[in-house]
Amino acid sequence: MKIPKIPMSSPDIGELEIAKINEVLRTPTLSLGPMLEAFERRVADYVGARYAVGVSSGTAGLHLAVRAAGIREGDEVITTPFSFVASANCILYERGRPVFVDIDAKTLNLDLDLIERKITAQTRAILPVHVFGRPCEMDRILAIAERHHLAVIEDACEAFGAQFDGRQAGTFGDLGVYAFYPNKQVTTGEGGIVVTEDPDHAALLRSLRNQGRGDAGAWLSHMSLGYNYRLNELSCALGVAQLERIQDLLAKRERVAASYTRRLNDVAGIEVPRGAPRVKTSWFVYVVRLSDGIDRDRVMERLSAQGIPSRPYFPPIHLQPYMREALGHKEGDFPVAEAASRSTLALPFYGDMKEQQVDYVCDALGKIVR
Ligand SMILES: *Cc1c(COP(=O)(O)O)cnc(C)c1O
Repeated sequence: MKIPKIPMSSPDIGELEIAKINEVLRTPTLSLGPMLEAFERRVADYVGARYAVGVSSGTAGLHLAVRAAGIREGDEVITTPFSFVASANCILYERGRPVFVDIDAKTLNLDLDLIERKITAQTRAILPVHVFGRPCEMDRILAIAERHHLAVIEDACEAFGAQFDGRQAGTFGDLGVYAFYPNKQVTTGEGGIVVTEDPDHAALLRSLRNQGRGDAGAWLSHMSLGYNYRLNELSCALGVAQLERIQDLLAKRERVAASYTRRLNDVAGIEVPRGAPRVKTSWFVYVVRLSDGIDRDRVMERLSAQGIPSRPYFPPIHLQPYMREALGHKEGDFPVAEAASRSTLALPFYGDMKEQQVDYVCDALGKIVR
């Protein structure tokens, strides 16, 4: 039998995206132009935020959000060890200290019952991550932050379009960050955006992404140590087109996720992602959990032999070599996150994935775990 080629992920690009990019190419403005403004406005309107500031990546956005929240050397920021490394790196960029809190085995997000015992006199912020597009219970996080006078920075880089209590993930905290790498729900090639309600935060973000330039616009006048974190016009054009199709983009991913769940729901040895009443997941990846006793890495090898890519999302951040060195962590520090890391498996996932491709993956996986 011929093995169909199944990518791990694939951006959903149509004629509208191509037309919008061509539009930009016919103008002399390839950075800091009208597409940036249009993209920022559309994202702000869609998520319901007052300000949106486009940046060159989700990581850049997280870095600027940490700066805007005033994190400095020695400040502690509470976050999760079960995430992509960027959500902890952004704290280290400003010489803050990521203070990890273990996760909830069901949601794979921060275990909210464990946060308060990690708060010290040095704690300045909580940085929750909406892992795999499943939003955290933000009302509880905001209540903890308020009790202890902490800033909240949401890493919503995997959660564009997710909702908690009907409100968009990323808009609860002081600052929220979305990412637009090609495997995300919405892509700009590379890119990210920071949302906030605070005009001072917005002004600072705009300045810092553009080499610390002042508002007055004098090109060679720099008010602070800034960066080149600008989002170019071509990327913004891609983003504007994607936002125009956002309902469709998210619905297609939801359909693929539902197909997976239908087929894997009753397979022994596989635990599928479950919803919860107040939570609307925006599907970033489709991650199953394998039962104890199933060797996840062996499963990946056998899938790969049949032309099916998969990923071990996520290796725990605190056990990455440089993090062990910087923070002195070791195996056993966050047992729930470590157990999740050993048993989670991301399957191929993208909006245009065909039913037969889902079938093929599920048949192969079912046979392997049996
Ligand atoms: C993708 C991602 C980021 C960073 O996004 P980039 O655009 O790749 O820099 C940050 N945090 C999480 C949790 C992510 O998944």
